[in-house]
Amino acid sequence: MLNTNNEVYRGLHYPWGRDVDPGAGVPQEIVEGVYWVRFPMPMSLDHINIWLLEESDGWTVVDTCLNLPDARAIWEDLLCGHMKDKPVTRVICTHMHPDHVGLAGWLVEKFDCPLWMSREEFLMCRTLAADTGQPAPDIAIKFYAAAGYSPAELEQYKNRFGMFGFGISPLPPSYRRLVASENLTIGDRYWQVVIGSGHSPEHVCLYCPALKCLISGDQVLPRISPNVSVFPTEPDGDPLKEWLISNARIRELLPDDLLVLPSHEAPFRGLHARLSQLIDGHNKNLDRLFNFLKQPRRVVDCFPALFKREIGEDSLGLATGETIAHLNCLMHRGQISRKKHSDNVHLYEQI
Ligand SMILES: [Zn+2]
Ligand SMILES: [Zn+2]
Repeated sequence: MLNTNNEVYRGLHYPWGRDVDPGAGVPQEIVEGVYWVRFPMPMSLDHINIWLLEESDGWTVVDTCLNLPDARAIWEDLLCGHMKDKPVTRVICTHMHPDHVGLAGWLVEKFDCPLWMSREEFLMCRTLAADTGQPAPDIAIKFYAAAGYSPAELEQYKNRFGMFGFGISPLPPSYRRLVASENLTIGDRYWQVVIGSGHSPEHVCLYCPALKCLISGDQVLPRISPNVSVFPTEPDGDPLKEWLISNARIRELLPDDLLVLPSHEAPFRGLHARLSQLIDGHNKNLDRLFNFLKQPRRVVDCFPALFKREIGEDSLGLATGETIAHLNCLMHRGQISRKKHSDNVHLYEQI
C-alpha cells in the first residue's frame, strides 16, 4: 500500500506525493481494480507507468514498456505472481511510441488475445516499424539540412534512422480499433475513449466516470510538456494546432475532479489546471518565437527562444521537431514566412 502524502505543487494535488516511487514492478492498487506498475527504462525518461485493470475472468493491460529483457522479466514476474490466477484478455495501447507499444505484440501472442488501439496509432506504428533497418530517405536528409544541420549532425541522423522497430516486438497483423467516445466495458465499469492529438496522431485516453479517474497516457503529464513534433514524413503538418485544440476539448469534455493516471511521473488531481498550463506554455512559446523572428533565422537558431537548456546531440532530434512544430503553427496562422536561402536552408521571418 502506498502512503498518503498529500502534496500540492503549481496548482496540482499529488495524493501520494510528487516523487512517489511505487517500486519497480510492484503492483499498487490505486483505485478499486486498477493497479499501477512502474517499469524502469534506461534513458533520461527513466520509467513508464503501466495500468492493470482487473476483471472477473482476466486482466486488461494498458501500455506495455519497451521491448527489453528487463521489462520482459518484470512482466514474467507479474504473470507468475500478482496476475497468475487469470489470463491477459486484452492489451490496450494509448499510442504508438515504443515505451507504450514495445511489448504489446509479445503479450498478445503469449495470451492469444487482441490488441486494442486507435487506427492512426496502429497504422503509424506499422509504418515506422517497416522502416527498420532501411537507410534514411533523401527527402528526410534534405528536411534536416534545410533546418540547418551540420554535416556531422546529418550523419548522426542517418546513423540513427530506422531504429524504431528495435524498441518494439512486432505488432500483430490485425487489431481491434478504438474509436473516439466509444464506451468499453472493463470488469463491471464503463471506460470512455477520449482522443487527443499532437503528441501522437490519435492518442487514446480512458475515462472511468464511476472511478472518477482518467488514464491519460502521454496526453496529460504532470511535469513534462509532452513533445509535439513535425517529422519529414509530413513536413508541412501542424500538430501543435491539433495539440492545442484537443487539449482544450478534453478540458471541456471531462470534469476537473478526476484522479489522473499519467504514463510518466505521479498520479495527480487538477486536470483542468494542467491542461491550461500545457496550452498556456505553448502559447507563450509561440509568442516568444514570433518576437525572435524579427530577423530571418534558421530552425536551429530558434532553440534559445523555446528551450532553457542547451540542446546537445541527444536532444537535437526532438528539439528540431518541436521547433518546426511551432514554426509551422505560426506559418499556418499567417504570422511568419519561410524562404529558401541559396544554400537550400530555410529562413523564417515575421510577415
Ligand atoms: Zn509518447
Ligand atoms: Zn511515453
